[in-house]
Amino acid sequence: EPFRPIDPANVRMYVCGPTVYDFAHIGNARPVIVFDVLYRLLKHVYGEKSVTYVRNFTDIDDKINKRALERWTKKRPLLDEVRELTEGTAAQYLEDVKALGCLDPDHMPRATEYVCDGDKPMDMVRVIERLIERGVAYAAEGHVLFSPKAMDELAGTSTVPRYGQLSRRPLDEMIAGARVDVAPYKRDPMDFVLWKPSNREIEPGWDSPWGFGRPGWHIECSAMSAALLGETFDIHAGGIDLVFPHHENEIAQSCCAFGIEKMASVWMHNGFLQVEGQKMSKSLGNFITIRDVLKDWPGAVVRLNMLKTHYRQPIDWTVKGLEESQATLQKWSESIERAIPYHYSDDDVSVGFIEALSDDLNTPKAIAVLHGLSAAASKGDKKSAASLDATLKFFGQGFGRFSDHQFGVMSAMIEPDESQLYIESQIDLRNAARAAKNFAESDRIRNELLDKGVLLKDGKDAAGNPVTTWELNR
Ligand code: AMP
Ligand code: ZN
Repeated sequence: EPFRPIDPANVRMYVCGPTVYDFAHIGNARPVIVFDVLYRLLKHVYGEKSVTYVRNFTDIDDKINKRALERWTKKRPLLDEVRELTEGTAAQYLEDVKALGCLDPDHMPRATEYVCDGDKPMDMVRVIERLIERGVAYAAEGHVLFSPKAMDELAGTSTVPRYGQLSRRPLDEMIAGARVDVAPYKRDPMDFVLWKPSNREIEPGWDSPWGFGRPGWHIECSAMSAALLGETFDIHAGGIDLVFPHHENEIAQSCCAFGIEKMASVWMHNGFLQVEGQKMSKSLGNFITIRDVLKDWPGAVVRLNMLKTHYRQPIDWTVKGLEESQATLQKWSESIERAIPYHYSDDDVSVGFIEALSDDLNTPKAIAVLHGLSAAASKGDKKSAASLDATLKFFGQGFGRFSDHQFGVMSAMIEPDESQLYIESQIDLRNAARAAKNFAESDRIRNELLDKGVLLKDGKDAAGNPVTTWELNR
Protein backbone atom coordinates (compact mmCIF):
# COMPACT_ATOMS: atom_id res chain seq x y z
CA GLU A 1 0.00 0.00 0.00
CA PRO A 2 1.43 3.41 -0.87
CA PHE A 3 2.03 5.58 2.18
CA ARG A 4 0.19 8.90 2.07
CA PRO A 5 0.72 11.10 5.11
CA ILE A 6 -2.28 12.98 6.47
CA ASP A 7 -0.11 16.13 6.49
CA PRO A 8 3.21 15.84 4.63
CA ALA A 9 4.48 18.84 6.60
CA ASN A 10 4.02 16.89 9.82
CA VAL A 11 4.26 13.11 9.51
CA ARG A 12 3.33 11.63 12.88
CA MET A 13 4.46 8.30 14.31
CA TYR A 14 3.97 6.61 17.69
CA VAL A 15 5.92 3.60 18.93
CA CYS A 16 4.94 1.81 22.15
CA GLY A 17 7.90 2.13 24.46
CA PRO A 18 9.28 0.04 27.31
CA THR A 19 7.74 -0.82 30.65
CA VAL A 20 10.47 0.47 32.92
CA TYR A 21 11.19 -1.98 35.72
CA ASP A 22 14.25 -3.87 34.47
CA PHE A 23 17.11 -3.68 31.96
CA ALA A 24 15.90 -3.82 28.36
CA HIS A 25 16.88 -7.01 26.52
CA ILE A 26 17.97 -7.16 22.89
CA GLY A 27 14.46 -8.26 21.85
CA ASN A 28 13.23 -4.92 23.19
CA ALA A 29 15.98 -3.25 21.16
CA ARG A 30 14.50 -4.52 17.90
CA PRO A 31 11.53 -2.14 17.62
CA VAL A 32 13.74 0.74 18.73
CA ILE A 33 16.30 0.11 15.98
CA VAL A 34 13.80 -0.79 13.25
CA PHE A 35 11.60 2.25 13.84
CA ASP A 36 14.65 4.48 14.19
CA VAL A 37 15.38 3.56 10.57
CA LEU A 38 11.78 4.45 9.69
CA TYR A 39 12.14 7.80 11.47
CA ARG A 40 15.34 8.55 9.55
CA LEU A 41 13.71 7.56 6.27
CA LEU A 42 10.64 9.75 6.85
CA LYS A 43 12.86 12.70 7.73
CA HIS A 44 14.87 12.09 4.55
CA VAL A 45 11.76 11.96 2.38
CA TYR A 46 9.54 14.62 4.01
CA GLY A 47 12.15 16.91 5.54
CA GLU A 48 14.17 17.05 8.72
CA LYS A 49 11.54 19.10 10.56
CA SER A 50 8.47 17.40 9.08
CA VAL A 51 8.29 14.30 11.26
CA THR A 52 7.07 13.97 14.85
CA TYR A 53 8.09 10.77 16.57
CA VAL A 54 6.65 9.85 19.99
CA ARG A 55 7.85 6.89 22.03
CA ASN A 56 6.48 6.59 25.55
CA PHE A 57 7.72 5.21 28.83
CA THR A 58 5.21 2.95 30.54
CA ASP A 59 5.94 3.92 34.12
CA ILE A 60 2.62 2.75 35.58
CA ASP A 61 2.30 -1.02 35.57
CA ASP A 62 1.72 -3.84 38.04
CA LYS A 63 5.13 -5.36 37.27
CA ILE A 64 6.69 -2.07 38.37
CA ASN A 65 4.66 -2.03 41.59
CA LYS A 66 5.63 -5.59 42.37
CA ARG A 67 9.34 -4.97 41.79
CA ALA A 68 9.28 -1.77 43.89
CA LEU A 69 7.51 -3.56 46.72
CA GLU A 70 10.16 -6.30 46.67
CA ARG A 71 12.91 -3.71 47.02
CA TRP A 72 11.15 -1.58 49.60
CA THR A 73 12.82 -1.38 53.02
CA LYS A 74 10.16 0.91 54.56
CA LYS A 75 12.85 3.51 55.23
CA ARG A 76 11.14 5.92 52.86
CA PRO A 77 7.79 6.27 51.09
CA LEU A 78 7.04 3.46 48.67
CA LEU A 79 6.28 5.97 45.95
CA ASP A 80 9.88 7.16 46.12
CA GLU A 81 10.96 3.57 45.56
CA VAL A 82 8.68 3.30 42.52
CA ARG A 83 9.97 6.58 41.11
CA GLU A 84 13.60 5.59 41.59
CA LEU A 85 13.00 2.27 39.86
CA THR A 86 11.22 3.77 36.83
CA GLU A 87 13.52 6.77 36.41
CA GLY A 88 16.67 4.67 36.88
CA THR A 89 15.45 2.12 34.34
CA ALA A 90 14.42 4.81 31.87
CA ALA A 91 17.85 6.46 32.10
CA GLN A 92 19.58 3.12 31.46
CA TYR A 93 17.31 2.48 28.52
CA LEU A 94 18.20 5.81 26.95
CA GLU A 95 21.90 5.12 27.34
CA ASP A 96 21.49 1.66 25.83
CA VAL A 97 19.56 2.76 22.76
CA LYS A 98 21.93 5.68 22.18
CA ALA A 99 24.80 3.21 22.05
CA LEU A 100 22.82 1.42 19.31
CA GLY A 101 22.87 4.58 17.19
CA CYS A 102 19.19 5.47 17.67
CA LEU A 103 18.07 9.09 17.49
CA ASP A 104 15.99 10.43 20.35
CA PRO A 105 12.30 10.69 19.45
CA ASP A 106 10.79 14.18 19.49
CA HIS A 107 8.72 13.35 22.59
CA MET A 108 9.20 10.68 25.25
CA PRO A 109 6.14 11.05 27.46
CA ARG A 110 5.83 9.19 30.75
CA ALA A 111 2.43 7.69 31.53
CA THR A 112 2.50 9.25 35.01
CA GLU A 113 2.44 12.71 33.40
CA TYR A 114 -0.80 12.03 31.54
CA VAL A 115 -3.14 10.49 34.13
CA CYS A 116 -5.00 13.64 35.11
CA ASP A 117 -3.42 16.98 34.51
CA GLY A 118 -5.39 20.20 34.29
CA ASP A 119 -2.77 21.75 32.01
CA LYS A 120 -3.05 19.18 29.25
CA PRO A 121 -5.90 19.11 26.75
CA MET A 122 -6.13 15.33 26.85
CA ASP A 123 -5.39 12.92 29.68
CA MET A 124 -6.39 9.40 30.67
CA VAL A 125 -9.19 10.39 33.06
CA ARG A 126 -10.77 12.57 30.37
CA VAL A 127 -10.58 9.81 27.74
CA ILE A 128 -12.21 7.40 30.18
CA GLU A 129 -14.96 9.91 30.99
CA ARG A 130 -15.74 10.25 27.31
CA LEU A 131 -15.93 6.48 26.90
CA ILE A 132 -18.46 6.29 29.73
CA GLU A 133 -20.47 9.14 28.15
CA ARG A 134 -20.59 7.27 24.85
CA GLY A 135 -21.89 4.16 26.54
CA VAL A 136 -18.94 1.87 25.75
CA ALA A 137 -17.49 1.85 29.27
CA TYR A 138 -18.95 1.48 32.78
CA ALA A 139 -17.78 1.90 36.37
CA ALA A 140 -18.06 -1.03 38.78
CA GLU A 141 -16.52 -1.49 42.22
CA GLY A 142 -13.84 1.16 41.75
CA HIS A 143 -12.98 -0.18 38.29
CA VAL A 144 -13.89 1.19 34.89
CA LEU A 145 -14.28 -1.38 32.13
CA PHE A 146 -14.47 -1.09 28.37
CA SER A 147 -17.11 -3.19 26.64
CA PRO A 148 -16.19 -4.47 23.13
CA LYS A 149 -19.82 -5.56 22.72
CA ALA A 150 -21.04 -2.01 23.31
CA MET A 151 -18.47 -0.82 20.78
CA ASP A 152 -19.94 -3.13 18.16
CA GLU A 153 -23.36 -1.59 18.80
CA LEU A 154 -21.90 1.91 18.43
CA ALA A 155 -20.21 0.77 15.19
CA GLY A 156 -23.63 -0.01 13.74
CA THR A 157 -24.81 3.57 14.14
CA SER A 158 -21.63 5.63 13.57
CA THR A 159 -18.30 5.68 11.72
CA VAL A 160 -16.58 3.93 14.62
CA PRO A 161 -15.15 0.57 13.42
CA ARG A 162 -16.10 -2.82 14.86
CA TYR A 163 -13.92 -4.34 17.57
CA GLY A 164 -11.19 -6.73 16.42
CA GLN A 165 -10.34 -5.42 12.95
CA LEU A 166 -6.60 -5.15 13.50
CA SER A 167 -5.95 -8.62 14.86
CA ARG A 168 -8.76 -10.22 12.80
CA ARG A 169 -9.27 -12.77 15.53
CA PRO A 170 -12.44 -14.78 15.62
CA LEU A 171 -14.65 -13.53 18.46
CA ASP A 172 -14.83 -16.92 20.20
CA GLU A 173 -11.03 -17.08 20.36
CA MET A 174 -10.95 -13.67 22.01
CA ILE A 175 -13.62 -14.70 24.49
CA ALA A 176 -11.73 -17.89 25.33
CA GLY A 177 -8.59 -15.81 25.91
CA ALA A 178 -10.46 -13.40 28.12
CA ARG A 179 -12.02 -16.11 30.29
CA VAL A 180 -8.79 -16.60 32.20
CA ASP A 181 -9.74 -13.92 34.66
CA VAL A 182 -13.46 -13.41 34.90
CA ALA A 183 -13.70 -10.90 37.69
CA PRO A 184 -17.10 -10.50 39.36
CA TYR A 185 -17.32 -6.80 38.45
CA LYS A 186 -17.13 -7.59 34.71
CA ARG A 187 -20.41 -7.67 32.79
CA ASP A 188 -18.77 -9.72 30.07
CA PRO A 189 -15.54 -11.75 30.07
CA MET A 190 -14.19 -9.72 27.14
CA ASP A 191 -14.44 -6.38 28.94
CA PHE A 192 -11.04 -4.90 29.66
CA VAL A 193 -9.79 -2.55 32.35
CA LEU A 194 -9.48 1.21 31.83
CA TRP A 195 -9.10 2.07 35.50
CA LYS A 196 -8.59 0.04 38.66
CA PRO A 197 -8.48 0.82 42.35
CA SER A 198 -5.12 1.24 44.12
CA ASN A 199 -4.31 0.37 47.69
CA ARG A 200 -3.04 3.64 49.14
CA GLU A 201 -0.55 1.83 51.35
CA ILE A 202 1.33 -0.08 48.68
CA GLU A 203 0.35 1.14 45.21
CA PRO A 204 0.69 4.40 43.29
CA GLY A 205 -2.64 6.02 42.53
CA TRP A 206 -4.51 9.16 41.60
CA ASP A 207 -7.82 10.60 42.77
CA SER A 208 -10.48 10.18 40.10
CA PRO A 209 -14.28 10.21 39.74
CA TRP A 210 -14.11 6.44 40.43
CA GLY A 211 -12.00 6.69 43.56
CA PHE A 212 -8.27 6.42 44.20
CA GLY A 213 -6.76 4.27 41.49
CA ARG A 214 -4.57 3.91 38.43
CA PRO A 215 -5.05 3.49 34.69
CA GLY A 216 -4.79 0.23 32.74
CA TRP A 217 -1.93 -0.17 30.25
CA HIS A 218 -3.90 0.30 27.02
CA ILE A 219 -5.46 3.65 27.95
CA GLU A 220 -1.99 5.08 28.59
CA CYS A 221 -1.06 4.95 24.89
CA SER A 222 -4.46 6.24 23.68
CA ALA A 223 -4.13 9.31 25.90
CA MET A 224 -0.46 10.03 25.23
CA SER A 225 -0.73 9.63 21.46
CA ALA A 226 -3.83 11.87 21.30
CA ALA A 227 -2.20 14.50 23.50
CA LEU A 228 0.98 14.69 21.43
CA LEU A 229 -0.04 13.65 17.91
CA GLY A 230 -3.77 14.26 17.69
CA GLU A 231 -6.74 11.88 17.52
CA THR A 232 -5.69 10.34 14.19
CA PHE A 233 -2.07 10.10 13.07
CA ASP A 234 0.01 8.34 10.43
CA ILE A 235 1.93 5.38 11.81
CA HIS A 236 1.61 3.33 14.97
CA ALA A 237 4.21 0.66 15.64
CA GLY A 238 5.55 -1.89 18.10
CA GLY A 239 6.39 -5.58 18.41
CA ILE A 240 4.08 -8.23 16.97
CA ASP A 241 3.02 -9.32 20.48
CA LEU A 242 1.29 -5.96 20.88
CA VAL A 243 -1.29 -6.54 18.10
CA PHE A 244 -3.65 -8.24 20.52
CA PRO A 245 -4.83 -7.13 22.96
CA HIS A 246 -2.78 -3.92 23.35
CA HIS A 247 -3.20 -2.31 19.93
CA GLU A 248 -6.68 -3.68 19.38
CA ASN A 249 -7.72 -2.06 22.64
CA GLU A 250 -5.93 1.20 21.89
CA ILE A 251 -7.93 1.43 18.65
CA ALA A 252 -11.18 0.64 20.47
CA GLN A 253 -10.56 3.35 23.08
CA SER A 254 -9.37 6.07 20.70
CA CYS A 255 -12.00 5.50 18.02
CA CYS A 256 -14.87 5.42 20.53
CA ALA A 257 -13.65 8.33 22.67
CA PHE A 258 -13.02 10.62 19.71
CA GLY A 259 -15.75 9.30 17.40
CA ILE A 260 -13.24 8.56 14.63
CA GLU A 261 -12.89 5.90 11.97
CA LYS A 262 -9.21 5.16 12.55
CA MET A 263 -6.59 5.83 15.15
CA ALA A 264 -3.62 5.44 12.79
CA SER A 265 -3.43 5.04 9.01
CA VAL A 266 -0.67 2.42 9.12
CA TRP A 267 0.21 -0.21 11.71
CA MET A 268 3.69 -1.73 11.66
CA HIS A 269 4.82 -4.65 13.79
CA ASN A 270 8.28 -6.14 14.08
CA GLY A 271 8.76 -9.89 14.38
CA PHE A 272 10.34 -11.54 17.38
CA LEU A 273 13.96 -11.83 18.16
CA GLN A 274 14.42 -15.48 19.04
CA VAL A 275 16.90 -17.66 20.81
CA GLU A 276 16.80 -21.28 19.74
CA GLY A 277 13.40 -20.87 18.18
CA GLN A 278 11.78 -19.17 21.17
CA LYS A 279 10.84 -15.54 21.68
CA MET A 280 13.37 -13.78 23.86
CA SER A 281 11.45 -12.60 26.91
CA LYS A 282 11.82 -11.79 30.55
CA SER A 283 9.23 -14.34 31.58
CA LEU A 284 11.02 -17.18 29.75
CA GLY A 285 14.30 -16.13 31.33
CA ASN A 286 16.18 -16.60 28.03
CA PHE A 287 17.11 -12.98 27.63
CA ILE A 288 20.36 -11.09 27.14
CA THR A 289 20.32 -7.44 28.13
CA ILE A 290 21.43 -4.75 25.70
CA ARG A 291 23.98 -3.80 28.30
CA ASP A 292 25.57 -7.26 28.31
CA VAL A 293 25.71 -7.46 24.53
CA LEU A 294 27.40 -4.07 24.42
CA LYS A 295 30.15 -5.36 26.68
CA ASP A 296 31.25 -7.71 23.90
CA TRP A 297 30.15 -5.98 20.71
CA PRO A 298 30.21 -2.40 19.45
CA GLY A 299 26.75 -0.89 19.14
CA ALA A 300 27.19 -0.55 15.36
CA VAL A 301 27.64 -4.33 15.04
CA VAL A 302 24.52 -5.06 17.10
CA ARG A 303 22.55 -2.55 15.06
CA LEU A 304 23.62 -3.91 11.67
CA ASN A 305 23.00 -7.45 12.84
CA MET A 306 19.44 -6.48 13.71
CA LEU A 307 18.81 -4.84 10.34
CA LYS A 308 20.12 -7.69 8.18
CA THR A 309 16.73 -9.35 8.62
CA HIS A 310 13.51 -7.78 7.33
CA TYR A 311 11.65 -6.31 10.30
CA ARG A 312 8.57 -8.52 9.93
CA GLN A 313 10.58 -11.76 9.95
CA PRO A 314 11.78 -13.47 13.11
CA ILE A 315 15.51 -13.14 13.85
CA ASP A 316 17.58 -15.90 15.35
CA TRP A 317 20.19 -14.15 17.48
CA THR A 318 23.58 -15.88 17.17
CA VAL A 319 27.21 -15.10 17.82
CA LYS A 320 27.95 -16.20 14.26
CA GLY A 321 25.59 -13.51 12.95
CA LEU A 322 27.32 -10.89 15.08
CA GLU A 323 30.74 -12.01 13.81
CA GLU A 324 29.55 -11.68 10.23
CA SER A 325 28.12 -8.23 10.90
CA GLN A 326 31.38 -7.16 12.44
CA ALA A 327 33.33 -8.45 9.43
CA THR A 328 30.96 -6.57 7.11
CA LEU A 329 31.45 -3.27 8.91
CA GLN A 330 35.19 -3.84 8.89
CA LYS A 331 35.16 -4.46 5.14
CA TRP A 332 33.02 -1.39 4.43
CA SER A 333 35.26 0.76 6.52
CA GLU A 334 38.37 -0.52 4.71
CA SER A 335 36.91 0.04 1.28
CA ILE A 336 35.99 3.60 2.21
CA GLU A 337 39.51 4.19 3.43
CA ARG A 338 40.99 2.78 0.24
CA ALA A 339 39.27 5.51 -1.76
CA ILE A 340 40.16 8.53 0.39
CA PRO A 341 40.67 11.47 0.19
CA TYR A 342 37.07 12.27 -0.58
CA HIS A 343 34.38 14.67 0.48
CA TYR A 344 30.75 13.84 0.74
CA SER A 345 27.53 15.55 1.62
CA ASP A 346 24.05 14.34 2.51
CA ASP A 347 23.30 14.41 -1.23
CA ASP A 348 25.56 11.40 -1.62
CA VAL A 349 23.08 9.12 0.22
CA SER A 350 22.48 6.27 -2.22
CA VAL A 351 19.22 6.51 -4.17
CA GLY A 352 19.00 2.72 -4.51
CA PHE A 353 19.33 2.40 -0.76
CA ILE A 354 16.46 4.85 -0.13
CA GLU A 355 14.33 3.03 -2.70
CA ALA A 356 14.88 -0.28 -0.91
CA LEU A 357 13.91 1.20 2.46
CA SER A 358 10.89 2.91 0.93
CA ASP A 359 9.53 -0.54 0.06
CA ASP A 360 8.26 -1.55 3.50
CA LEU A 361 11.66 -0.97 5.09
CA ASN A 362 13.46 -3.60 3.05
CA THR A 363 16.72 -3.43 4.99
CA PRO A 364 18.22 -6.67 3.55
CA LYS A 365 17.90 -5.20 0.06
CA ALA A 366 19.26 -1.86 1.26
CA ILE A 367 22.27 -3.63 2.79
CA ALA A 368 22.87 -5.40 -0.54
CA VAL A 369 23.15 -1.92 -2.11
CA LEU A 370 25.84 -1.08 0.45
CA HIS A 371 27.76 -4.23 -0.48
CA GLY A 372 27.69 -3.08 -4.11
CA LEU A 373 29.04 0.36 -3.18
CA SER A 374 31.72 -1.24 -1.05
CA ALA A 375 32.85 -3.49 -3.93
CA ALA A 376 33.21 -0.44 -6.20
CA ALA A 377 34.92 1.62 -3.49
CA SER A 378 37.44 -1.12 -2.81
CA LYS A 379 38.50 -0.82 -6.45
CA GLY A 380 39.20 2.85 -5.81
CA ASP A 381 35.94 4.44 -6.95
CA LYS A 382 35.82 7.61 -4.85
CA LYS A 383 32.21 8.39 -5.67
CA SER A 384 31.07 5.01 -4.37
CA ALA A 385 33.19 5.46 -1.28
CA ALA A 386 31.59 8.84 -0.62
CA SER A 387 28.15 7.40 -1.20
CA LEU A 388 28.83 4.44 1.10
CA ASP A 389 30.09 6.76 3.81
CA ALA A 390 27.13 9.15 3.52
CA THR A 391 24.64 6.30 3.41
CA LEU A 392 26.12 4.59 6.46
CA LYS A 393 25.85 7.83 8.35
CA PHE A 394 22.22 8.22 7.28
CA PHE A 395 21.52 4.60 8.26
CA GLY A 396 22.68 5.30 11.81
CA GLN A 397 25.82 3.24 11.17
CA GLY A 398 28.02 6.32 10.84
CA PHE A 399 29.78 5.32 13.99
CA GLY A 400 30.40 1.96 12.37
CA ARG A 401 33.37 3.23 10.40
CA PHE A 402 36.34 1.94 12.22
CA SER A 403 39.57 0.13 11.87
CA ASP A 404 40.79 -2.57 14.24
CA HIS A 405 42.54 0.00 16.29
CA GLN A 406 39.40 2.09 16.70
CA PHE A 407 37.40 -0.88 17.90
CA GLY A 408 38.87 -0.36 21.33
CA VAL A 409 37.64 3.20 21.42
CA MET A 410 34.20 2.19 20.16
CA SER A 411 33.80 -0.29 22.98
CA ALA A 412 35.04 2.31 25.41
CA MET A 413 32.44 4.71 24.10
CA ILE A 414 29.75 2.44 25.41
CA GLU A 415 30.75 3.45 28.90
CA PRO A 416 30.09 7.02 27.77
CA ASP A 417 31.07 9.01 30.78
CA GLU A 418 34.67 7.95 31.13
CA SER A 419 35.57 8.31 27.47
CA GLN A 420 33.75 11.58 27.31
CA LEU A 421 35.59 12.89 30.34
CA TYR A 422 38.89 11.79 28.86
CA ILE A 423 38.21 13.52 25.54
CA GLU A 424 37.04 16.66 27.26
CA SER A 425 40.08 16.75 29.52
CA GLN A 426 42.33 16.42 26.44
CA ILE A 427 40.46 19.31 24.82
CA ASP A 428 41.11 21.42 27.92
CA LEU A 429 44.81 20.56 27.81
CA ARG A 430 44.95 21.43 24.13
CA ASN A 431 43.23 24.76 24.71
CA ALA A 432 45.71 25.54 27.45
CA ALA A 433 48.57 24.69 25.06
CA ARG A 434 47.10 26.91 22.38
CA ALA A 435 46.66 29.78 24.81
CA ALA A 436 50.35 29.41 25.65
CA LYS A 437 51.12 29.36 21.90
CA ASN A 438 52.59 25.88 22.25
CA PHE A 439 51.23 24.70 18.91
CA ALA A 440 53.45 21.63 18.73
CA GLU A 441 51.75 20.34 21.88
CA SER A 442 48.25 21.32 20.79
CA ASP A 443 48.77 19.54 17.44
CA ARG A 444 50.12 16.50 19.23
CA ILE A 445 46.95 16.24 21.35
CA ARG A 446 44.75 16.77 18.32
CA ASN A 447 46.53 14.03 16.34
CA GLU A 448 46.56 11.63 19.23
CA LEU A 449 42.78 11.95 19.54
CA LEU A 450 42.43 11.56 15.78
CA ASP A 451 44.37 8.30 15.97
CA LYS A 452 41.75 7.11 18.44
CA GLY A 453 38.97 8.00 16.03
CA VAL A 454 37.99 11.31 17.62
CA LEU A 455 37.96 14.42 15.45
CA LEU A 456 38.18 17.86 17.05
CA LYS A 457 36.42 20.80 15.46
CA ASP A 458 37.27 24.39 16.29
CA GLY A 459 34.40 26.81 15.88
CA LYS A 460 32.56 29.63 17.55
CA ASP A 461 29.52 29.59 19.82
CA ALA A 462 26.47 31.83 19.38
CA ALA A 463 28.21 34.66 21.21
CA GLY A 464 31.26 34.40 18.95
CA ASN A 465 33.57 32.83 21.54
CA PRO A 466 35.86 30.05 20.32
CA VAL A 467 34.72 26.52 21.23
CA THR A 468 36.07 23.09 20.41
CA THR A 469 33.62 20.24 19.81
CA TRP A 470 34.36 16.63 18.93
CA GLU A 471 32.83 13.80 16.97
CA LEU A 472 33.65 10.19 16.34
CA ASN A 473 35.55 8.77 13.38
CA ARG A 474 35.45 11.65 10.98
P1 AMP B 1 7.79 -4.30 26.91
O1 AMP B 1 8.78 -3.51 27.70
O2 AMP B 1 7.68 -5.73 27.31
O3 AMP B 1 6.43 -3.61 26.86
O4 AMP B 1 8.31 -4.38 25.39
C1 AMP B 1 8.79 -3.25 24.68
C2 AMP B 1 8.79 -3.54 23.20
O5 AMP B 1 9.67 -4.66 22.87
C3 AMP B 1 7.43 -3.92 22.62
O6 AMP B 1 7.27 -3.24 21.38
C4 AMP B 1 7.53 -5.42 22.40
O7 AMP B 1 6.69 -5.85 21.38
C5 AMP B 1 8.99 -5.57 22.01
N1 AMP B 1 9.53 -6.93 22.22
C6 AMP B 1 9.53 -7.64 23.39
N2 AMP B 1 10.15 -8.85 23.23
C7 AMP B 1 10.56 -8.90 21.93
C8 AMP B 1 11.29 -9.87 21.15
N3 AMP B 1 11.73 -11.01 21.67
N4 AMP B 1 11.54 -9.59 19.85
C9 AMP B 1 11.13 -8.42 19.31
N5 AMP B 1 10.45 -7.46 19.98
C10 AMP B 1 10.17 -7.68 21.29
ZN1 ZN C 1 0.96 1.24 23.34
